[in-house]
Amino acid sequence: MKILVPVKRVIDYNVKVRVKSDGSGVDLANVKMSMNPFDEIAVEEAIRLKEAGKASEVVVVSVGPQQAQETLRTGLAMGADRGILVKTDATTEPLAVAKILKGIVAEEEPGLVILGKQAIDDDCNQTGQMLAALLGWAQGTFASKVEVGEGSVAVTREVDGGLQTVELKLPAIVTTDLRLNEPRYASLPNIMKAKKKPIDEKAPDSYGVDITPRLQVVSTKEPPARQAGVKVASVAELVQKLKSEAGVL
Ligand code: AMP
Repeated sequence: MKILVPVKRVIDYNVKVRVKSDGSGVDLANVKMSMNPFDEIAVEEAIRLKEAGKASEVVVVSVGPQQAQETLRTGLAMGADRGILVKTDATTEPLAVAKILKGIVAEEEPGLVILGKQAIDDDCNQTGQMLAALLGWAQGTFASKVEVGEGSVAVTREVDGGLQTVELKLPAIVTTDLRLNEPRYASLPNIMKAKKKPIDEKAPDSYGVDITPRLQVVSTKEPPARQAGVKVASVAELVQKLKSEAGVL
């Protein structure tokens, strides 16, 4: 069984995001970019399934600019076999990405597509669900455990206040939650080996997909700055402030 893992190039999670002065979006100039953290978890899970003999090949795919090749190389250095770069400099919305992925699924015929539950740049949490709908496949979202059986996959999902396990018929879509696994660091020899692994280049047109955005960003704002704290002289003063000012007692 082949596993397809879509990986998105996003602002590194350690970077303090700055909003452009005209509020039109986030400033990406000279900002460190990395693989979306949930996608690292997806790549790790796919590689573990391959190591366990449940998968034959892991293919990583990214829709984005030329630099998204680095994101694919990260996946290849972790252990994926080959990559597909669908090159575009335009902003891509989840529906366009899902349509492109549908085209890649038709070509590659994977048994499982493992995506991140959300990209930390736009927090959409839509692409996996849209892809499942477009393909008419079952989906197991927010996975904290994935067990591949004969023609099926059991997915334990993180739901409010507990866990739910669903069994899906393969082929299927899985989206990863934070506790599914801890992604490995690529070793230096594997980083070197990854440079020789193949990356196919395509365009959205190759799949007949019009990626023109359907949404318009009206404004982007920084969160309000946190107010400075105050020091109190005694417990009595703290209790009094909690009662009269904070209103929590
Ligand atoms: P989102 O729906 O934007 O929150 O993204 C959910 C997941 O879809 C991500 O974690 C990725 O696995 C995948 N995805 C979204 N956008 C892209 C992209 N441009 N290229 C590759 N994968 C993507």
